[in-house]
Amino acid sequence: MSEYWIDLRSDTVTEPDQAMRAAMAAAPVGDDVYGDDPTVNLLQETAAEMFGFEAGLFAPSGTQSNLIALLLHCARGDEYLVGQDAHTYKYEGGGAAVLGSIQPQPIANQPDGSIAVSDIAHYIKPDDMHFARSRLLALENTIGGKVLGQDYIAEATAFARSRGLATHLDGARICNAAVKQGISLRDAAVGFDSISVCLSKGLGAPVGSVLLGPKEFIERGKRWRKMLGGGMRQAGILAAAGLYALEHNVERLAEDHANAARLSMGLAEIEELQVATPQTNIFYVEVPPEAVDSLRAALLRERIRATVGQHTRLVTHINTTERDVDHVIAVFTSFFKDWRAAR
Ligand SMILES: *Cc1c(COP(=O)(O)O)cnc(C)c1O
Repeated sequence: MSEYWIDLRSDTVTEPDQAMRAAMAAAPVGDDVYGDDPTVNLLQETAAEMFGFEAGLFAPSGTQSNLIALLLHCARGDEYLVGQDAHTYKYEGGGAAVLGSIQPQPIANQPDGSIAVSDIAHYIKPDDMHFARSRLLALENTIGGKVLGQDYIAEATAFARSRGLATHLDGARICNAAVKQGISLRDAAVGFDSISVCLSKGLGAPVGSVLLGPKEFIERGKRWRKMLGGGMRQAGILAAAGLYALEHNVERLAEDHANAARLSMGLAEIEELQVATPQTNIFYVEVPPEAVDSLRAALLRERIRATVGQHTRLVTHINTTERDVDHVIAVFTSFFKDWRAAR
């Protein structure tokens, strides 16, 4: 057994538990490129049903399922409107531009994570040979741990549609948004033509994402997935983990949100820190620049991993316990007590 680490860098660090591993080991499989894998098929049907779409496509990563969606909605020389801080713009290696010749039109995110509808209106290009063709609005929920309001989503997607744009949601953490608001997954997905859902974030599966949309869209998506190298064979072993996660690990996200709230309240007691109030499982803490390096070292000595900087990101997940949270608070508190005394 490796030594115990508390890892607050991301909810991607989760490890499958014994029950998930048992589901993986027991999964019936087939060659999914032939459409023969019963577990992949079941995952795709289950996810489509849960989120209220006609069909689903299992992809090895969220990056790939978002890229497939962009390639389906936009052709060469088209553009998608997207938040400046959005994963599909900023954190996916420019894949839409590199592999799809799709131009992003990044737009500043508001402090609440939304893109102002007036900005969407402003950036949609008229039909003119000088411009790329505006085809798609891509939103993200949650974004930086923040939940987009249902009223905002309804307004933004209806506006996009009224201007002839399709809508895609990077729903890597859509389950966190739904659980936080106490609404169904279906309601959280309303308004979008397609959404991608990550299985390997807070849901705790080792890999994978599902892209959801209309049947004909998903059928065409299979060709892009194959071209991108995502046509997997006996993938039911992986899909079983995702299926297990959707069936067992959605409601429990509330525990991650409660742990984030507990952690933020504990840290807010430390006068040197400025602590944001988490809406879900991700929040940021402003750390005095002079304290960053020694704080990072102090946490590592206590076997705590975190993305420590002036703008420190903390993330709770299925492998974070309340006891872990209390330990982290104690380590921060003692660190800043010493730091203060030394100044
Ligand atoms: C993690 C993440 C993705 C990509 O998922 P991978 O499986 O890591 O490729 C996409 N969007 C958001 C918001 C994410 O957090």
